[in-house]
This record gives sequence, structure tokens and C-alpha cells, in this order.
Amino acid sequence: MNINKYKKLLLERLKVLAEVDGYAQNACQPVELDQTRVGRLSRMDALQSQAMAQETARRRDNESARIQVALKRIEEGEYGYCLSCGELIASNRLALDPTATVCITCASV
Ligand SMILES: [Zn+2]
Repeated sequence: MNINKYKKLLLERLKVLAEVDGYAQNACQPVELDQTRVGRLSRMDALQSQAMAQETARRRDNESARIQVALKRIEEGEYGYCLSCGELIASNRLALDPTATVCITCASV
């Protein structure tokens, strides 16, 4: 198994996530209530898009946490082994999701 390939993938993904997080900072700011300019409907829109921005931010946090775990497992030489049964995780599964910590068999239980 080519660990370096996955390490590179993970590091690149982490970099992209950090960049997107930078752009998205503004979208997560509290909704400004400019009553003179925005009506009730656009306030609803603003709240809704804020909720969506928070949800995607939460997913990014989640993904970068999983990437950190994967990188730590690479350092420890544990990467690619199922956390549950200890078998090697199929490389096509890792190619699809380099942060996978369990094999397909254990994941589908
Ligand atoms: Zn397993």
C-alpha cells in the first residue's frame, strides 16, 4: 500500500478545507437586523443561509478532525488497518475516502 499517496491526499484536502474555512468566515457572522432595508422574508432567507453556512462549517470541522486522525494513524503505522477487526482496509475504499477507519465489512454492520 502506498501510504505516501494517501498522506498527500489527506494533506491536500486539509489545506483546501482550511482555505474554504477562511472564505466562509463571513457567512457565519450573526445575521444583521437592518429593519429599514430587509423585510421579514429576506430576514428568513438570511437566517436560513446562515444555518446552512454553519452546517457546512460543522461538516468541514468534522472532516478535518477525521483527517487529523488519519494522519496520526499514518505516523503510528496504523493507517489502512480496520479499527474494528484489524484487517487491511481495501485500497479502493481508501481511495474513495482516505479517512476511512474501518473496513467495508465492519462499516456495513
Ligand atoms: Zn473490519
